[in-house]
Amino acid sequence: MLARELLPDVQEVLETRREPPYRLSQAYRALCVSFVRDWEECTVLPKGLRDELNEKAPAATLELLRIARSKDGTRKYLFQTRDGHRIETVMIPEKDRRTVCISTQIGCPMGCAFCATGLLGIERNLKAREIAEQVFVVARDIAPERVSNVVVMGMGEPFLNYRQMILALRVLNDPDGFNLSARHIAASTSGLVDRIRRFADEPEQFHLAISLHTPFEEERRRLMPVASRHSISEVMSAARYYVERSHRKLFFEYTLLAGVNDQPRHAEALATLLDHPLYHLNLIRFNWTDTGFSATSRKGAREFLEMVRELGLSATLRPSRGADIDAACGQLAAKDLRGRPVATTG
Ligand code: SF4
Repeated sequence: MLARELLPDVQEVLETRREPPYRLSQAYRALCVSFVRDWEECTVLPKGLRDELNEKAPAATLELLRIARSKDGTRKYLFQTRDGHRIETVMIPEKDRRTVCISTQIGCPMGCAFCATGLLGIERNLKAREIAEQVFVVARDIAPERVSNVVVMGMGEPFLNYRQMILALRVLNDPDGFNLSARHIAASTSGLVDRIRRFADEPEQFHLAISLHTPFEEERRRLMPVASRHSISEVMSAARYYVERSHRKLFFEYTLLAGVNDQPRHAEALATLLDHPLYHLNLIRFNWTDTGFSATSRKGAREFLEMVRELGLSATLRPSRGADIDAACGQLAAKDLRGRPVATTG
């Protein structure tokens, strides 16, 4: 049962008090549907139980320290975990969509050369509850608007924290939980091939994105250390398994870095590599991080898009959002408060 897995501390309190089993469902729904942050808000629970839960199994596992607002409407949420680490979550508004980009690790061990999160190294994996709670806090913040999509593309490599990530996604998808369609939930990986296969075998219809960033082996090894472990042909073989097993579109993420991976030879090699009708190339211009790379110009990015389309690829150029608050792809580093005293919720 998802509630039992997500809320072991709550379950323990309920068992010790010999509460009826439906109390766990009530607590689960309070968190996932009503987004309570304090058990006092959950008035279906008896007062004595609320008090004991607040003392022994508090409703919130993340403290919201600050919300930064971009001029384009993007919001970045800075959280502190109970053990004092900071993570970030982003909400991107877009026409009728409200997409939440969530983190799965504190920092990231993958060390991609252009990514601010990669510079942090890794502290620890997040628990499923900490992963799902990021969405609940955003949902509460933007109400009465609703979260329409969740992408697991924030801090961390989600597939290194597979069990907790998949539990969180199931809670988000659960009709008795957050109740978001699986087709509106996507995970992203830097290319861990065994986990791509495992993800393909999951019964839910979650989407997948694989970060590619260049079609050339040697270049990919320089940009993404993970490429030394898994060659492009191994990644493509796992990708093929995913689409054949799931019959779902598979997204390849490609950050355009000026003079590095935005040349005609890259477009031509991509056209050869992405040889399945369910493959889709997502281009995004590099968002500035202190890593020595620079962004392909807007014109250059549009030309690259046209080139790959003319070569027959299904492709889009995603707009960068939230760059003025360091909330764009690759910029999450919780850096504005690193080493400073804890601020209050903004
Ligand atoms: S791009 Fe993703 S996988 Fe690579 S270092 Fe950054 S957070 Fe980690």
